Amino acid sequence: MQIPAVKPSDVGLRLAKIVKCAISWDEHVRNFYSVDASSYTIKPQVVAFPRNESDVIKIIKFAKRYHIPVTPRGAGTGLVGSALGRGIILDMQNFDRIKLGASHVEVGSGVFKGRLDKILKKQDRVIGPDPSIGPFCTIGGMIGTNASGIHSLKYGSVIDNIIQVRMIGSSGNVIKLPGKYNAKGMIKKIHLSDNTFPKVSKNSCGYRIDKVFAEKDLHKLIAGSEGTLGIITSAKLRTYPSPKNILLYVIHYKTLSDAARDTPKILGLGPSAVELVDSNITKHIKMTVPSSTGCLLFVEFDGTVQGRKQIHKITSGKIIKTESNAAQVKKIWSFRNSALAYSLQSITKNETMPTLIEDAVVPVKRLPLLLKILGMISKKYGLRTIVYGHAGNGNLHIRPVLKQKDLGIIKNIAVEFFSAVIGIGGSITGEHGDGLARSEFVKLQYDAKTYSIFKDIKKQFDPENILNPGKKISSYSTVTRNLKI
Ligand SMILES: Cc1cc2nc3c(=O)[nH]c(=O)nc-3n(C[C@H](O)[C@H](O)[C@H](O)COP(=O)(O)OP(=O)(O)OC[C@H]3O[C@@H](n4cnc5c(N)ncnc54)[C@H](O)[C@@H]3O)c2cc1C
Repeated sequence: MQIPAVKPSDVGLRLAKIVKCAISWDEHVRNFYSVDASSYTIKPQVVAFPRNESDVIKIIKFAKRYHIPVTPRGAGTGLVGSALGRGIILDMQNFDRIKLGASHVEVGSGVFKGRLDKILKKQDRVIGPDPSIGPFCTIGGMIGTNASGIHSLKYGSVIDNIIQVRMIGSSGNVIKLPGKYNAKGMIKKIHLSDNTFPKVSKNSCGYRIDKVFAEKDLHKLIAGSEGTLGIITSAKLRTYPSPKNILLYVIHYKTLSDAARDTPKILGLGPSAVELVDSNITKHIKMTVPSSTGCLLFVEFDGTVQGRKQIHKITSGKIIKTESNAAQVKKIWSFRNSALAYSLQSITKNETMPTLIEDAVVPVKRLPLLLKILGMISKKYGLRTIVYGHAGNGNLHIRPVLKQKDLGIIKNIAVEFFSAVIGIGGSITGEHGDGLARSEFVKLQYDAKTYSIFKDIKKQFDPENILNPGKKISSYSTVTRNLKI
């Protein structure tokens, strides 16, 4: 999408005339919003802080009139540049309402997960998806990426937990899903498609039409839509009783493949989490681990799951810690949740570890094959890699460590890795989404018929392509454009 050549101050001043909320085109503010937790940078023209739906509606109508892209943003912890855009950034922090129900919560899209967790704790309840970034992401961002986390084995992703969405559409209309929305034609097309979705436990690639069987499921389409179909103002999410009687095992393996081979057997015991960190990360955690450690598996059980007693019999690794004290369990999980920070400590000043192939997911029994593919690609390109992630879901966060001067090979690595992942029945992204890193590969993931339905969906919700253009549906390559590293 071409952005009209107007000065940011012109856009800001015009916008300030029609809406009362804070608007900034200050250089520092634009710089702050030009990055997220990804490897990309794009400077917006203006940042707006709508106070309510009426502000969002006015901004959207303005953006439509002048063909300026609008990108909603939560906390900017996304890893693929999906909250970056050239036009107007909508910081949704003022959408901060929380209304508790008995087994659900209605929550504003700008609410930080940490705040919601604290309020739910008083009710002794939790929401299921729990990204490792912990309290620092927002509900809007979690829905935008179809986030999950270390307990997705038990609770699934956002798409499995979302009951209702309220959003502002591309013409400034309020859309409540499920609800009245002219989608009959769309549903028919979705049904007609023999869509070839990978059989994996989580997937944030493209639009999730595989979960839409009727109009009552239309809200699921918004999970993972990255702000391309509407600006979410609030949502209703399922809540669960806080888990009790937690038991955590830390298991040592000499190689990643040994742990990968054990994972399906461990899943048979009914754990609530099976997470992995490799030796790049174990070097930094404050726990004594054997010198031969290739990786650790963190395996958690809760409730009355009987399988926990069998773990000694079925694992080929060595259990180096068994913990049931709540504070200690929390501490051990903090080691896993800090994996990205520890990874950064494992590279030198001249090295970089771009987000790109960091979120592949495959059927769990194919994890050893995924590691084999990674080994072949690493050998071909002389790469060192850092590996951690949600082994129980077959979802590995892989960071290739590159020298700045070698960034030119990123696209080749991506094409080879993604083709192989798709070839073994996986998805190129399990939870982080497509964004700038992967949107151009969505058409590699799905067949032509499915991709054309994605395009129809985008057209129906956003005919003029003003909502976060270039994400999900992409007509040009963005994988190496705007890299900040
Ligand atoms: C250290 C670290 C660990 C992480 N661990 C995990 C993990 O375990 N699991 C996981 O799933 N992710 C993880 N992530 C990725 C990220 O934290 C999640 O994707 C998170 O849900 C993003 O939330 P956010 O508020 O930062 O969203 P942002 O980055 O601000 O936005 C993400 C997307 O959502 C869209 N969006 C935001 N608000 C709205 C709205 N109101 N309406 C419509 N669209 C909107 C944006 O346009 C963008 O496309 C991790 C990231 C880091 C840095």
